[in-house]
Amino acid sequence: MARRRTAPLESPAPAGTDRRSDVQSPVQYLRGVGPVRASMLARLGIVTVYDLLLHLPRRHEDRRHPTPLAALTEGPDRGTVARIERIQMIRTRRGGALVRAGVADATGVAHVVWFNQAYLARNLSRGQRVSLYGRVERAGRGLQFVAPEVEVIDPEEEPWLVGRLVPVYAATEGLPQRALRTIVREALDAYADSLVDPLPYRVRSHHRLVGLREALRAAHLPEDEAAREEARRRLAFEELLVLQIGILQQRRDVEAMPREAAYGPAGDLLPRFLASLPFSLTGAQQRAVDRILYDMRQPAPMNRLLQGDVGSGKTVVAAAAIVSCVDGGYQAALMAPTEILAEQHALTLGRMLGPAGIEVYCLSGGTDAAERDVLLRAIRSGRPVVVVGTHALLETRVSFDRLGLVVVDEQHRFGVMQRARLRAKGRSPDVLVMTATPIPRTLTLTVYGDLDVTVIDELPIGRHPVKTHVRPSAAREKVYAYVREQALAGRQAYVVCPLIEESDTLQARSAVELARELSDGPLRDVRVDVLHGRLSAVQKAAKMEEFRAGRLQVLVATTVIEVGIDVPNASIMVIEDADRYGLAQLHQLRGRVGRGPDQSHCILLADTPTESGRSRLDVMAATTDGFVIAQEDLALRGPGDILGVRQHGLTGLRVANLASDLPLLEEARTAAEGLLRDHPQLDGPELAALAAAVERQQAERRRLASVG
Ligand code: ADP
Ligand code: MG
Repeated sequence: MARRRTAPLESPAPAGTDRRSDVQSPVQYLRGVGPVRASMLARLGIVTVYDLLLHLPRRHEDRRHPTPLAALTEGPDRGTVARIERIQMIRTRRGGALVRAGVADATGVAHVVWFNQAYLARNLSRGQRVSLYGRVERAGRGLQFVAPEVEVIDPEEEPWLVGRLVPVYAATEGLPQRALRTIVREALDAYADSLVDPLPYRVRSHHRLVGLREALRAAHLPEDEAAREEARRRLAFEELLVLQIGILQQRRDVEAMPREAAYGPAGDLLPRFLASLPFSLTGAQQRAVDRILYDMRQPAPMNRLLQGDVGSGKTVVAAAAIVSCVDGGYQAALMAPTEILAEQHALTLGRMLGPAGIEVYCLSGGTDAAERDVLLRAIRSGRPVVVVGTHALLETRVSFDRLGLVVVDEQHRFGVMQRARLRAKGRSPDVLVMTATPIPRTLTLTVYGDLDVTVIDELPIGRHPVKTHVRPSAAREKVYAYVREQALAGRQAYVVCPLIEESDTLQARSAVELARELSDGPLRDVRVDVLHGRLSAVQKAAKMEEFRAGRLQVLVATTVIEVGIDVPNASIMVIEDADRYGLAQLHQLRGRVGRGPDQSHCILLADTPTESGRSRLDVMAATTDGFVIAQEDLALRGPGDILGVRQHGLTGLRVANLASDLPLLEEARTAAEGLLRDHPQLDGPELAALAAAVERQQAERRRLASVG
């Protein structure tokens, strides 16, 4: 459907610009794009012509039904087709240009005014039929279009900005819609025909996808809604297919590396360890342990994500893997995102493994020099020790001699690069990453697509779902009276202070103030202390120890307690200004309670929250299911902000939407698997363009990940 379209009226473009056919060439090669516009486009992330073609409209304006002038009303987004009756240009005293016109159709008349677009007076003339689109205001007794988009309708040709769906782009300052429209159209006209479709014909016909050229044109300038949706689907599919191929190749590369650890027949350490636990594993934990032990005996290194909601008991599963590793004569490292969590894990593992004679060390930024020396010597010795730590483990002087297993807890807090650096401390060690944040399937296929996934979908028996209450600050007094009553009855509570993202120091101060206010007031006769990020590692550990031992009733804290902290006797969580927190954070915070036999309560204090704050609190009150919460979070915030997706370079997706494109993603995954099965190297001329696209996208992801 090759239509001829009238040229839009735009400021004149430099003549004789080079027209190259390579879409990867800079946008500046386009007619109408000079250095200034190129730098504006760069602000939108548009560097090459291809970037521009994939800068899809945010929506389309329906201009298919122009209004007769008699029916014209005031307001934005008015469109009409009329004849120019008169036109003149007036120089204003400040040196500007005012172009005024009168237009008419069979039903009536209207005025038009443009500012500082003198070229319009030269290009428009009496008698021409034009399409106008823009805001209409009252002017005297008539109506007036103010600075509308205008296009001359050549009776021989079809107009391209009237009578159709017109693209509306994300624009940037200094680069108005109409300029973007013109530039994009220029790119389509100059380059679309030379585009090589990366999707082989077979794939296209099997998945009922339109060709690339047609898709790009229809994505920008569709004939109708159906054509636009077809186009989007096609482009999103290509993007996801390319991504999946890259991920599957990456995974194949990891699997091709032989692992270092060669475990002999299993000793009796693991059964002894399991027997020493005060509980028996849940079915889901047992299955996870079996799967991990199986992986650890394969020739290729394990690369597994262990996903389980807060409180599902991931630590003990990791401990089982660590025990097996050590039993086999290798060293294990466990990395956690915060000092307190690292301390807690070291404590737990020490208690679990100490009786079996296994040394457990802890390393964080706060570890003193003497202790660190002992630790560094131990891991260099090659003895099968366990080291728990924060990202301090990544420092270069930490060098393992026989690293068999790497565990990363709360892995969404780390970037891919950090995971890779820890892995590089050994020669292809097994890797187990854990996350309490349930991950929507779109993300397991993309962000975590290079990992095998095991889900713990069962909580230990005897747990009651936490009851969640949303209360206004007017109810604070009552809330703290309740906290006091519970504390005096032997329960323990966390109070999370309002979030201050800008400054650690202010955040710490806010926690200290809240603690003082509570212990001077409603919690006078209760033991209260405060925990925040500005305390030393030793102080933090000491306070956690007090709380764990039950010598403290109420712990006022910042988000340092957000992840991983496990004190089963704590059954109350109060979150001040809860509407400031994101959903994932609220879910994690709430996960600190509900870990023991008592019914737990979470009280969210919030006043007149914004609409999004309101809906977050509603979600929290409605469900404790982390999976539901993660889905909502993805829908409310988009994938760019959650789960460290940015660090994975996934914000590079331009067309596909990870919140809503799951079916398409599954389709692309299957197609990628099929393609790689039949053509492991993607060789052959038919796949050359696809292979190049994969290469480009991988390079882009690496770049984004290293920035993130
Ligand atoms: P998470 O999955 O959030 O990391 P943890 O590993 O911290 O959960 O475990 C939460 C709590 O549940 C801990 O106190 C742990 O000792 C306990 N726990 C773990 N597994 C079981 C089980 N099978 N039965 C009873 N309690 C368990
Ligand atoms: Mg945990």
